[in-house]
Amino acid sequence: MLKSILVFNVGSSSIKYSLFEDSNLLKSGNKERLKSKEDYNKALQEIFLECSDKKIDFLAHRVVHGGELKKTSLITPKVKKKIKQFSEFAPLHNPKQLMVIELCEKFKKPQYAVFDTMFFAELPEVSKTYAIPKKITEKYDIRKYGFHGLSHEYVSQNLKGKTITCHLGSGSSISAIKNNKPLDTSMGLTPLEGIMMGTRSGSIDPGVIFFLQKKKYDVEDIITNQSGLKGISGYNDFRNILKNMDTNKESKLAYDLFIYKITKVIGSYITVLNGLDNLVFTAAIGENVPRLRRDICNNLKFIGVKLNKKKNNNNERKISSIFSKVNVYVIKTDEEKMAVEEVLKVLK
Ligand code: ADP
Repeated sequence: MLKSILVFNVGSSSIKYSLFEDSNLLKSGNKERLKSKEDYNKALQEIFLECSDKKIDFLAHRVVHGGELKKTSLITPKVKKKIKQFSEFAPLHNPKQLMVIELCEKFKKPQYAVFDTMFFAELPEVSKTYAIPKKITEKYDIRKYGFHGLSHEYVSQNLKGKTITCHLGSGSSISAIKNNKPLDTSMGLTPLEGIMMGTRSGSIDPGVIFFLQKKKYDVEDIITNQSGLKGISGYNDFRNILKNMDTNKESKLAYDLFIYKITKVIGSYITVLNGLDNLVFTAAIGENVPRLRRDICNNLKFIGVKLNKKKNNNNERKISSIFSKVNVYVIKTDEEKMAVEEVLKVLK
């Protein structure tokens, strides 16, 4: 029997939803500019109304931080407690996602949570461990969890060998994957670690944080909301950086820094993987900016990466030249589709 599953991808001010029948998408939409709990509730009523021509069997929620929950989970009071517990490490996402889960309870459907961390649940010990005292990491479950897992898994699932996936959007992360098994990823305990992003600093000397704390700055707000591309150029939207970078020094620096930080992580992951077969670009920036892909790939000529200029400019699926030693892909990510596949796996 076909199952219909309504998938929710709740953001800090939006609900993206997709209705699937098994893995076939029937309809999708996005409710934006949501502020209060009432806004979210109203948006949910509208979504259920829009989907009312179909009997919905299950609800699925993308949840950013699953902590020690390593698998797609039927949402029970215990699972909700865990989502709440890990809110501390994903304060922009988990509380809103939990709120939507609770608002959905009145629709009386079995609800599943699919976690952005679960693809990275079995990272090697050396990649997930922070070098701080063990009694502290064990007490609070402090380790690298990794994020954007549904996306990294989706775009790499058909690629064999040594793969690096670059998810470049308003949040950005890079993963090293060998035969579909992740070996490392740039985000950590929280989605703040790794490369710089729209408004997040990415990895930074902890000394900067201690210093700013002493100076009484709200450091969490600074490195979460005021840094990254925005901190350098004033713009967090990459399209503005692209528009201004040829005439404006700050936009050029923001662009160059972004490329530099991505290149450095890719370089380190080539070493982790001991080579590279596939390089994948995804998410809004990765999928839509030929110039950025060209500049990153120019830094990788030393391992034989070569682009086909025309294919790159057209955002085609495979953009490497036939002479390239590494396959380079642009793959449109689909977190909702991956979420539904995960739920279907559990239902089977
Ligand atoms: P997320 O899912 O992490 O919120 P997206 O993958 O939707 O993010 O990426 C959003 C960001 O991507 C925007 O803030 C904007 O900077 C950038 N972006 C969106 N579309 C384009 C485009 N066509 N060209 C360049 N950058 C884009």
